[in-house]
Amino acid sequence: MIRVTTVAGMKDLVRRWRGEGKRIGLVPTMGYLHEGHLSLVRRSKSRSDVTVVSIFVNPAQFGPREDLQKYPRDLERDAALLEKEGVDAVFCPTVGEMYPAGYKTYVQVTELEGRLCGKSRPGHFRGVATVVLKLFNIVEPALAFFGWKDAQQVIVLKRMAADLDLGVEIAACPLVREPDGLAMSSRNAYLSPEERKAAPVLFRSLAAAEKLVAAGERDAAKVVAGIRSAIEAEPLARVDYVEAVSLETLEPVAELAGEVLVALAVFVGTTRLIDNVRLRV
Ligand code: AMP
Repeated sequence: MIRVTTVAGMKDLVRRWRGEGKRIGLVPTMGYLHEGHLSLVRRSKSRSDVTVVSIFVNPAQFGPREDLQKYPRDLERDAALLEKEGVDAVFCPTVGEMYPAGYKTYVQVTELEGRLCGKSRPGHFRGVATVVLKLFNIVEPALAFFGWKDAQQVIVLKRMAADLDLGVEIAACPLVREPDGLAMSSRNAYLSPEERKAAPVLFRSLAAAEKLVAAGERDAAKVVAGIRSAIEAEPLARVDYVEAVSLETLEPVAELAGEVLVALAVFVGTTRLIDNVRLRV
């Protein structure tokens, strides 16, 4: 596995691969890898000739009072995991390499960026779209792999890829959970043992909602209220938002019909966790 830290170095490698007619798969991550990330890597390996995993904790997607400084990092452990998966290259640039002095350009996916998590994390999706577009320009992938764990991210990036004619297929991959249902996340490392025990309430509340809909409930407000009250019953949890939205526009729906995303963000202690289910009604 080749480890690349500079944009120029990555572009050289990409030029060589493309000269050999190789289809490049890209898996963008912020590192501190878990099985969720590795599932994307395996998907890329099965669909691409060469796989690049980027590891970059992107300051542009963190708010001023968010966890940029304390975000967990362990590049050596990550590199060992990726080596074992047979990844071809890991791209781990410094902040200065991605955003050199004088950097001024940002990408905004209007409307979509302001919904759901965008309300409590203003500027987050502008940072995500910007870094992903930069990664696409550097790595020139045919395919890029993202997890449904971050459903709004998938929708925003699909829109960006279509709107800007990027010619990159955005491949969305299933959400990977712990055995007790908690969505895997690098941020789960922040949870104390008691908080970790409380955290599966997110998934349990969504699973109960899914059952309600399967049994015929179509009133979005009722389903959302059920999720809220299940979460509010857990003393360590505090709801940031629970919403049922159109999977395409991310606009709230009153009636559950077609493709609906039920998404939530919940603070467990001081850690903000997200989860979602997609329903085809
Ligand atoms: P992150 O390192 O959190 O930025 O995540 C990098 C990529 O891995 C994103 O596309 C995430 O959606 C995806 N990912 C993170 N956690 C999971 C999970 N539990 N299941 C599936 N994909 C995930």
